[in-house]
Amino acid sequence: MDHDSPSIFTKIINREIPADIVFEDDAVIAIRDINPQAPVHLLVIPKSPDYANVFELADASPELLARLVSVAKKLADEHADGQFRLVFNSGEAAGQTVFHVHGHVLAGGLTEGSLA
Ligand code: AMP
Repeated sequence: MDHDSPSIFTKIINREIPADIVFEDDAVIAIRDINPQAPVHLLVIPKSPDYANVFELADASPELLARLVSVAKKLADEHADGQFRLVFNSGEAAGQTVFHVHGHVLAGGLTEGSLA
């Protein structure tokens, strides 16, 4: 597959395409997923375009991965009851479509089948 560069998330970070941004700091942005799979479905995304998936991120920058988890928890507190699933689709066969690492934060009245 041709992994688009810059990714759709880099275009959102650069304000080249619109998105519903719910959090932003120097290293992380979070947006509402355009096709929600749960009552609360947010994406936590490192601004760096350097990591295609969560294991590249974990190898290169575990601190940044930990920041993503912290932001996920903060957003789950703000948008739901603080309980959430954090899903990283990793690889095309696992359903990954955007190769700029992102975690799906799923919360609010989850059911068994509501994995992103
Ligand atoms: P994945 O399949 O894990 O790579 O997740 C990519 C996610 O990005 C999907 O859940 C899409 O619905 C979401 N998505 C794609 N384009 C946009 C966009 N422009 N704004 C918000 N979410 C998007």
